[in-house]
Amino acid sequence: MKTRTKITIVAAILALAAVGCQGPQTTTPAVVTRDHTISVEELARQLGLRIDDRDETFVVLRDAANTVLIFTHSDGRFFVNGTPIGTVGTVRKVSGTVYVSESLAAQIKPHLGTSVTPARPQPRPARGIVVIDPGHGGHDPGAIAVTGIHEKIVNYDVAQKVAAILRRRGIEVVLTRQGDVFPELEARAEIAARRNADLFVSLHADSAPNPSAQGFTVYVAKTASADSQRAARDIARAMATTGLESRGVRQENYRVLVTNRRPAVLVEMGYLSNRQDALRLQDSAFQDKLAAAIAAGIIDYLQ
Ligand SMILES: [Zn+2]
Repeated sequence: MKTRTKITIVAAILALAAVGCQGPQTTTPAVVTRDHTISVEELARQLGLRIDDRDETFVVLRDAANTVLIFTHSDGRFFVNGTPIGTVGTVRKVSGTVYVSESLAAQIKPHLGTSVTPARPQPRPARGIVVIDPGHGGHDPGAIAVTGIHEKIVNYDVAQKVAAILRRRGIEVVLTRQGDVFPELEARAEIAARRNADLFVSLHADSAPNPSAQGFTVYVAKTASADSQRAARDIARAMATTGLESRGVRQENYRVLVTNRRPAVLVEMGYLSNRQDALRLQDSAFQDKLAAAIAAGIIDYLQ
């Protein structure tokens, strides 16, 4: 909170300074600014990568062979192809543009691989081990829908469908519970570690006092690995095709995520406190569509 306030103030001061510096004849902003910083757009250009994704806290630069993830805050780290390389150092945000130290380009460059395949590689068959965790169960019903159905039932039904689709694609799936029982949260996370799973996906459905709140959210822990974040984005992107409203990827330290030693995401598939979402989530045909989307996102991540 403090840091954010500080950044906002710095950004505001810089924005004012920038306005003050601009002569009326200036039509394009200078790329290189004071303190040897460059915009992330310029950084991407220097590295020959495109900006593939970004939000308030991170930016992803990518080409066919490389993924560079940069957390755009002053103590943020950067990753090249999933490996943490270093800290970002100076970061300034001016009028929506993020400026980072120009030395970042030189730090990142040696870690970039060259692609030996054409720019658009053939899709490889997905392989891997995925743990699907139907949330709640047994004595714990989870949220109770406006329609009366229990969250644990919805979670379990969708989990079974996701598992079936993934298995048909040759992916090994482990479910954290069989039937209406309640394994402890740590035990669920432990299954992923024991199986050395490529991904752990916990399935839930939301509830809120406001009955108009609706849509799905994909969560990762606040300390989530680059892999977890990539999986969350792949799943959220696929789920957006179902017609459910997308609340995007968010960070929350859910126990099943923070105790997880493998890449892990938690999907809130919709709001059971919202009539439209609840009716969809308990409808078998919609569950098929939803499960297909979640499975597609998981397969994207595995490829
Ligand atoms: Zn839940």
